[in-house]
Amino acid sequence: MNLCSPAVVRDLLQKYSLAPKKGYGQNFLINPMIPERIAELSSSFAAGDKPCGVLEIGPGVGALTQYLCGEYDKVVSVEIDKGLIPLLDEALADFDNVTVVEGDFMNLDLPAFVREHFGDILDAGGSVGVCANLPYYITTPVIMKLLESFPYGERIPFSSIVVMVQLEVARRLAAKETSSDYGAISAQIALRANTEKLLDVSAGNFHPVPKVASAVVGIIPHGGIREVYPDSPESEEDCARLAELTSELITLAFSQRRKTFINSVGSKYSKEETLAVLEECGIRADVRGEKLSISDFCRIADKLNK
Ligand code: SAM
Repeated sequence: MNLCSPAVVRDLLQKYSLAPKKGYGQNFLINPMIPERIAELSSSFAAGDKPCGVLEIGPGVGALTQYLCGEYDKVVSVEIDKGLIPLLDEALADFDNVTVVEGDFMNLDLPAFVREHFGDILDAGGSVGVCANLPYYITTPVIMKLLESFPYGERIPFSSIVVMVQLEVARRLAAKETSSDYGAISAQIALRANTEKLLDVSAGNFHPVPKVASAVVGIIPHGGIREVYPDSPESEEDCARLAELTSELITLAFSQRRKTFINSVGSKYSKEETLAVLEECGIRADVRGEKLSISDFCRIADKLNK
């Protein structure tokens, strides 16, 4: 049974007396080429011949899950909608490498969940990816949870996060400071990962048809602040502290978009000290947050806290 044929999706939903729930962001994929490609893109980041697993958020009726089962040794899918659990039991009955967990991803203790389900794979030197067609109402919180649930000093355990999001969000996630799409989320992500847009997906590939176009992004966690700021402190502890301060500075800098950087961070750092640091870094006094690269943010945070 192909879980993204429009007829199969319709029949399955009807059999279990379900209809797509807007409140859960349920837009199901109905063109098999798309989830097949997403699963391939995701697994291309997995570690060679070592065991590999994937965490999926929101399997829906299993359109993407079925292809992930073909690409990965182990698939764990978290679904919030109770009604979909028996449907998924039937739809995924042919696969013995998938576990569906009922629950709200936002309420998971993520480090404990990863250890419980993927500890064996990580201990064997394998890799764990995240792959999802994300519910659009919580795209950014989900991504930030994936990146921020692990202490700054610790490596993020995911080899890749390959997710479908709204096109407009994809542009923001992957934007550099030279682009008008650059904002707090672009800088926060750059502190932890490299991001690129991998695939555009038009609205006609979903049921029901959403109002906006979508895109798949690949977010590849990197080694943290040392990778974006060559003058990072020597000790792991100081690096972790600087990463935290940088993240806080980014939040402040973008909290009031029309204001200059100096004014935006005024609640924490005095005008005089910020001005002196900007001068030392060779950055204009009237700069706005959206013109600062991730390495600028790190450098300013470093100097402001010395
Ligand atoms: N993966 C399926 C596909 O591609 O056709 C469904 C994707 S649909 C856009 C989003 C899915 O996420 C739905 O199944 C929805 O019920 C589920 N979902 C929404 N909020 C969630 C949450 N907080 N935790 C886990 N799943 C969630």
